[in-house]
Amino acid sequence: MNVQSAQQLIYESCLIESSVSLADKNWFGTGGPAEYFCEPLSAIELQDAVRFAHTHAKKITLLGKGANTLISDDGIEGMVISPQLKEISFRDGGDAVAFVTAGAGVSLDDLITYCFANNMLGLEEFSGIPSSVGGAVYINLHYFEFLLSQFLVRATVLDMQSGQLQEVDNSWFAFGYNTSTLHNGQHVLVDATFRVYKADSAHDLFYAQGRRDEIIRHREKRYPSRNTCGSFFRNFHEDEVQHEVNGRKAIWVAYYLDKIGVKGELRVGDAMVSHQHANMIVNVGSATSSDIIGVARQMQKLVHKEFGIIPQPECRLVGFKDYPLIRSFPSTSSGRTEGVPVERGKTE
Ligand SMILES: Cc1cc2nc3c(=O)[nH]c(=O)nc-3n(C[C@H](O)[C@H](O)[C@H](O)COP(=O)(O)OP(=O)(O)OC[C@H]3O[C@@H](n4cnc5c(N)ncnc54)[C@H](O)[C@@H]3O)c2cc1C
Repeated sequence: MNVQSAQQLIYESCLIESSVSLADKNWFGTGGPAEYFCEPLSAIELQDAVRFAHTHAKKITLLGKGANTLISDDGIEGMVISPQLKEISFRDGGDAVAFVTAGAGVSLDDLITYCFANNMLGLEEFSGIPSSVGGAVYINLHYFEFLLSQFLVRATVLDMQSGQLQEVDNSWFAFGYNTSTLHNGQHVLVDATFRVYKADSAHDLFYAQGRRDEIIRHREKRYPSRNTCGSFFRNFHEDEVQHEVNGRKAIWVAYYLDKIGVKGELRVGDAMVSHQHANMIVNVGSATSSDIIGVARQMQKLVHKEFGIIPQPECRLVGFKDYPLIRSFPSTSSGRTEGVPVERGKTE
């Protein structure tokens, strides 16, 4: 290890910095520093960064664009790795299809632009969602009926225990709504390959470009686009709710949040529930992560008081010594929930 200064060191192929502010590296614009921080540009640098963490017994936290992450005001102990692998390539897949491969650090927006420039369509359904490829695969990015897992055919992942790269297919990820094998915290996505469609004509391409503009316009009207993590709470699973609307289980968390009337009203410090969407918390000035947690806890308590269920976060909570929100009740066999909220536990 070659120490260059108190703030920077070189370990094998990668530059590692210490005490790096993370507030400008996430969409809430809050949170404390990373003890160690590294932005590997290649798979080799990524392997070296992981080896550094193991050698120094540092816990690894992965960060993409920070669009779905709330970082503790105390920061993150250990090593934060933000993969910046930015390569994109494609190959013709024969009849009507093509395969586009993108590094974990490519933004979805750049990937869609690249696809259009090379006459490839499909991924524009995720237009306007801030995300790296790594973060998108982690959560199985979704918008209305589209899931990223419908496009992903294979990927390269790094096993953080063995330090080895592994080629995997779609089934390896065990994708579900908001979930994938990456949630086990043992692998880093290095790159992913998506099956897309070849544009048959200029008309196809114009149509897809129009669709992208329309989605972005629609999103701008419906959702706040900055200083938020998008939906803070995930939708409920069917077995978590009893309430029905038109004969169907009401799993949509925004349904309950709309009913408790917090939209544009509930505020702690400079954190408040968006006036556009009841499930989005926005930093309207100089909120801290504690303010955001304060709003989220009140939302949980109000939904619980009114409906007996407790929304759970979709947003990743990182660096908190104790779990800062209220956990779900344990389910009973009838699917109903009872008892007192469980507040113990750790975050990532
Ligand atoms: C305005 C706004 C609108 C949004 N709208 C939507 C929407 O419509 N649909 C939707 O699904 N989401 C939406 N989101 C949430 C967010 O955009 C997605 O979750 C996105 O995929 C996060 O990507 P990221 O790169 O910012 O990930 P981060 O927030 O940086 O990380 C999220 C998780 O991914 C993990 N991760 C990141 N990179 C890797 C990697 N290389 N390997 C393994 N794990 C990794 C991290 O460890 C972390 O647990 C929205 C967010 C905002 C701010």
